[in-house]
Amino acid sequence: MDEVRTITCTVCPMGCSIRVTLRDGEAVAFEGHQCKRGPVFAKDEVRDPRRMLTTTVRIRGCTARSVPARAAAPIPRDRMMAAMAQVRGLTVDAPVVAGQVLLADLAGTGIALVATGSAASCAPEADPEVAR
Ligand code: SF4
Repeated sequence: MDEVRTITCTVCPMGCSIRVTLRDGEAVAFEGHQCKRGPVFAKDEVRDPRRMLTTTVRIRGCTARSVPARAAAPIPRDRMMAAMAQVRGLTVDAPVVAGQVLLADLAGTGIALVATGSAASCAPEADPEVAR
């Protein structure tokens, strides 16, 4: 027997409400989307819902208190709370450079947390003005 589920597409700000018909757990029909990305999103949302984690990470050894970071790929939605708890407990040492892996495995997903910003160290030996 078919089941109908309504999913809000989050791919773009339009936020289309998509009615998805499921047959034996598989998405087989879509209504309400305004472009072809909607059914792709809805299919993934039914089978393996994922979200992008963007956050900040506490930093020590720098005047900045945190550095921006995000997951290297969308993580399973049911691992999001565990990943956030892991990030809250994380403190990294300056310097940090954009692209640096801050955590190799977010909540057992195998997906890394990567810095999206940089933070210089405040240690005197790292300051070229002080080294002169
Ligand atoms: S279906 Fe297309 S237009 Fe609608 S929210 Fe998704 S991406 Fe945007």
